[in-house]
Amino acid sequence: MLIGSHVSYGKEGLVGSVKEALSYGSSTFMFYTGAPQNTIRKTIDNNLVVEALKLMEENNIDINKVICHAPYIINLANDLDSAKYNFSINFLKNELKRCEELQIKYLVLHPGSSVGLERTKALDNIAFALNQIIDKDAKVMILLETMAGKGTELCSTLEEIKYLISKVNYKIGVCLDTCHLNDAGYDIKNFDSFLEQFDELIGLDYVKCIHINDSKNGLNSHKDRHDNIGWGTIGFESIYKIVTNKRLEDIPKILETPYIGENEEDKERIYPPYKFEIAMLKEGIFNPHLKEDIRAFYKN
Ligand code: FE
Ligand code: FE
Ligand code: ZN
Repeated sequence: MLIGSHVSYGKEGLVGSVKEALSYGSSTFMFYTGAPQNTIRKTIDNNLVVEALKLMEENNIDINKVICHAPYIINLANDLDSAKYNFSINFLKNELKRCEELQIKYLVLHPGSSVGLERTKALDNIAFALNQIIDKDAKVMILLETMAGKGTELCSTLEEIKYLISKVNYKIGVCLDTCHLNDAGYDIKNFDSFLEQFDELIGLDYVKCIHINDSKNGLNSHKDRHDNIGWGTIGFESIYKIVTNKRLEDIPKILETPYIGENEEDKERIYPPYKFEIAMLKEGIFNPHLKEDIRAFYKN
């Protein structure tokens, strides 16, 4: 099973990410090249890249399946503030270069929010920006993430994703997110029929990554609050069917579920759930003591 989680990228750069992924029993992973919520980025230390690649090779992690995620403050949809819009375009150009230096093949992007603009105009802004960011020699593919449709978020429908693909001159891909699909109104309890719908409209070969999250909210809620596997409204059985779906065998599956606190009410979320969620998904049996097991493991 090609599965992993979002991991951090710290002082050791990608080496730290690989180590963290391995500590969870992952076979792949996703990282941000700095903090997810800002655009401050350090230059890449090539010695650390070599070390990270070696560590991946030793542990059978295929670099071609490792995912980078762009910071979520980037909004390519809104050009009302032209300085901000141009900053985002330049940032992503550099982010693609950083991915290339790290030998990463895929960069996941939240397409953007229309804010004060008409939706079609906002989509056209994204396409225009992407056409400036990507060129014919691009070695890194941008993946548009399917969004929950919170606020004025774009690409909460497959039609909007399809529209962007048709407007961008070079090949881009898609990252599905189970929580977002659910919140956007796609019933993924029958994932095969969703995949058929996707295949007919866009083509399954566009899917290069899938984010595996349960949702705290119901179908069509437009909320985007991730939950731990089996704790939300999608449920363990449906998620298990997705991660074991034959058509998605070679697609990296990435958990972005919330950290666990000392208890349910605890606002301080300190323990990563991934080692235990991955084990549970590999085994195929829901663990009702998941949270207690995580606390017990990390406490000492
Ligand atoms: Fe995302
Ligand atoms: Fe996601
Ligand atoms: Zn989300």
